Amino acid sequence: MIAATRRTFSLDLPIANILHNPKRDWRVISIGKNRIAADRKIAVDWQEFTEDKYLFSHVSIVSSVNTTSNGYYIDAPTDELVNNNGNAWTAPVLRACFKSFIGGDNFFEHVQDKKLSKGTILDAVLRPVTYMGKNRKSAEVLYCDLLVATDRKHTDLVRDIESKKLSTLSMGCICPQVQCSRCGKVFGDDDPACEHINNQLLTYFVDENGIRRITSELCRASHWNERLGQWEGIPESCRFIEASWVGNPAFRGAVINHYISEIPKSASYVLDMPTHKLELFANDLFRMRVADKWGMVVLRVACSEIIRRRQESLLDRVAEDR
Ligand SMILES: [Zn+2]
Repeated sequence: MIAATRRTFSLDLPIANILHNPKRDWRVISIGKNRIAADRKIAVDWQEFTEDKYLFSHVSIVSSVNTTSNGYYIDAPTDELVNNNGNAWTAPVLRACFKSFIGGDNFFEHVQDKKLSKGTILDAVLRPVTYMGKNRKSAEVLYCDLLVATDRKHTDLVRDIESKKLSTLSMGCICPQVQCSRCGKVFGDDDPACEHINNQLLTYFVDENGIRRITSELCRASHWNERLGQWEGIPESCRFIEASWVGNPAFRGAVINHYISEIPKSASYVLDMPTHKLELFANDLFRMRVADKWGMVVLRVACSEIIRRRQESLLDRVAEDR
């Protein structure tokens, strides 16, 4: 509990702990009191994942926030757990979706290309934590703990992790729908967001009862289960896909290059692509959320570039048609 409290303010870029005895250490982390674990039938294959082949790390990658009875106003002190990009997850959503981390890739700087994967997320578990806020009020939340195996064949990366030059992991997820924590509106792919999400993320407002609340983008609304009398997350509503080693500014330019170069340069090629294929490719980028601030900036640059190229292609086509 002490370790968890110590890390609560750095969940945006949580510090990973290297596990020197991964089998034992992970058991301690994942089988404690009240843990919500994935199906243990697909438990880690320790024959395959051995210490000579992999570097094992544990990280508390994301935490939940608590909402009021309307399902979207965020209650203090869990407003402190909204991440630097203004994203937040409720406990029902985390409960429904955390298992999607398992089998996800361990990338470097969110370069989400399978060929460039550095390892695998072997397991995920939810841990109840009593979060102590700055105002000394506490709240019950869930932390999601991951067991990450980084392949030792990436010798430079592993060396940097072992020497603590690289110690932070950031998660990436795909959210087809998000909800504004201020007005409660739910937005899908093509819906224009409300002014709160566009311009007021992370700012505070006063609700109709005079309570000060943060403006956040909730990664998907939950639905109210009448029978159980509780909010429930929908498993498909948020897909956690990766955990990336982040932290070295020198490599950040490479991430932009990666995304931009993935976009077909020839306008005619774009127009020739079947719409579903084009949309499939682009939509994931528009739906992507990553935890670290720089990674999110990069994604926005990439999305703007896609939009710019689409407009350019359209203008070219219109010009040709004349
Ligand atoms: Zn709003």
